[in-house]
Amino acid sequence: MKTFIINNLEFAQTQQKLIDTFEVFDCKRLTEMLVIQDKNVEPATILFELAGDCKRFRQPSMHLNIRTKLPVICQRCLEEMLVELDLSFDYLISKVAINELDENDEMDWLEANIEMNLQELIEDELLLALPIAPTHENSCGKLSMQSGEKPNPFAILKGKIK
Ligand SMILES: [Zn+2]
Repeated sequence: MKTFIINNLEFAQTQQKLIDTFEVFDCKRLTEMLVIQDKNVEPATILFELAGDCKRFRQPSMHLNIRTKLPVICQRCLEEMLVELDLSFDYLISKVAINELDENDEMDWLEANIEMNLQELIEDELLLALPIAPTHENSCGKLSMQSGEKPNPFAILKGKIK
């Protein structure tokens, strides 16, 4: 299991970049929220990009992008579905709390930490972003068809070709 411990202030000041992945299984709290079954052929992978910056906001900051697809249960048809997440965050890094941020939801504040656990931060953000009652985007009642009702794939093709 990988660990991602970084000195976040230094990371920002020296404008480092980190692109890596880890498995959802490595996140215990997150795994508890998901449908992890044997039939998940591939374990869900979390891809992240972290970029330190010290110019954009005139103080040390980090931009974090998280991309993943997480298996959950659709609350309408109770079938497994994947929630696709593509999240971006900007964090200001400071030793003292930044009060002005209260009015600005676009930015978050992270306390300067020489041993910040990046994986924990990513897990926290994913837990917050996970929909409470996920449902398929399209009406899924029709998709959970009983046997014998499957559409003939050739019939569908025929309809598309003119
Ligand atoms: Zn559904």
